[in-house]
Amino acid sequence: MLKLCRVCGATGRALAGFCHVCGDELPPTQYDWPTFKGGEQRLGLDEIRLAKGFRQLQATEVLHLTLGERCHSLLSWDRHLIAIGRNGTVKIVEPSSRETIGTMTADGPLTCEPSIDRGVLFLACADRIAAYALGGLTLTSPRLDPLWQASISGVPTQALLTRGNRLFVNTQTTSGKRSVQMLEDVHRLIRPQVRELLSAERVSTLAAGPKKNEVILVMERAKALEVQLLDASAATPTFESHRVPSPILPLIEHVPIAVLGTRVFGVFGEDDQLCRIDLDANAVMTILRADAQAFSFNRYGQWIQVETFGIAFPHLEIRDELTPGERIRGEPVVFFDSTAAVGLHDGRILVYDITRPPYHEELRVSPEGHEVTALAAFDRFLAAGDAAGHVKLFELLPRGGNSERMREGREDAGREPKVGLAGR
Ligand SMILES: [Zn+2]
Repeated sequence: MLKLCRVCGATGRALAGFCHVCGDELPPTQYDWPTFKGGEQRLGLDEIRLAKGFRQLQATEVLHLTLGERCHSLLSWDRHLIAIGRNGTVKIVEPSSRETIGTMTADGPLTCEPSIDRGVLFLACADRIAAYALGGLTLTSPRLDPLWQASISGVPTQALLTRGNRLFVNTQTTSGKRSVQMLEDVHRLIRPQVRELLSAERVSTLAAGPKKNEVILVMERAKALEVQLLDASAATPTFESHRVPSPILPLIEHVPIAVLGTRVFGVFGEDDQLCRIDLDANAVMTILRADAQAFSFNRYGQWIQVETFGIAFPHLEIRDELTPGERIRGEPVVFFDSTAAVGLHDGRILVYDITRPPYHEELRVSPEGHEVTALAAFDRFLAAGDAAGHVKLFELLPRGGNSERMREGREDAGREPKVGLAGR
């Protein structure tokens, strides 16, 4: 699979980050799921929208691989699936050929969600972060190139975020201090400098803001809540602070924030309330719904919310109740803006049409029924991993349709999708 340089027109290889002729960045593809919860805004959303008119989707299993250990994360870059085990096993697979093109064992156990940027994979464990260039995997003699390792004070937590040439990471010390640290020039072969940017009592995940190279986080310090915005391309990045009037506390750190335009969504308070902070309106906070154990948005501001005993679709005021003993695992994902997947403790994946809940289909990661530990959606694929290291890739196609019709659908962006999976 070749990529075209936007500047000089030279063709570059898949998984390469930069043009080999002029050095410019190669463009991203629709197959990218580079970070935890997919997009850098942590919406849990893939980049593809589906044309209206497809009433039903059909899931076909295209790939099943085993990591040999608990699946920690699933990412995608340039039509390749990158499956990562908790102790550092990494397998890189090309879905259309179903071939494993690379395997390595990095340091583990991983303490936070990894990320990929321009063909470089970043992995973090207790006291260090390491970077690997994936581009060499598509050479005739495939190789995975370690770029650097950097020591980190404190344990990396939450999820890594790359913006421009910098990598941002949350850390936590044994005394409970939370910090955000920044690594410089992370695409080069030299060890990056590490700098602490801020510390607070509680700090949210880091998410990309609406402006290019912007980083957004929410932090709690001395009973106050602040949204911090940072321009990652500035020579000396500094935070611009927006203090939230009448904040709801505490900030629930383990549920990632999401950014949709100038609205920041996060979970706050003893009742786990999903709240919206509107940066265009003096950072005023609005309660949306309680009992948010996890959530994911589509581009229209509709969301799916995992609750203690059910899965809620607030835009329709519909809730699918869980049966006793059923437990949701991890974060839901939304793909084609209209379909949502949630993983369960017993290896099932429930795939909902978010325009017609509670109808859904069920998929399985493995027949043995281990808990689902990772989900990813990119292009027309849904990937799922479990606690025993099974990773399965499903292709979702319209019933009776084909890939070409799906491709036409991508041009019909911006309209409310009205599509669905068949009900059970
Ligand atoms: Zn070029």
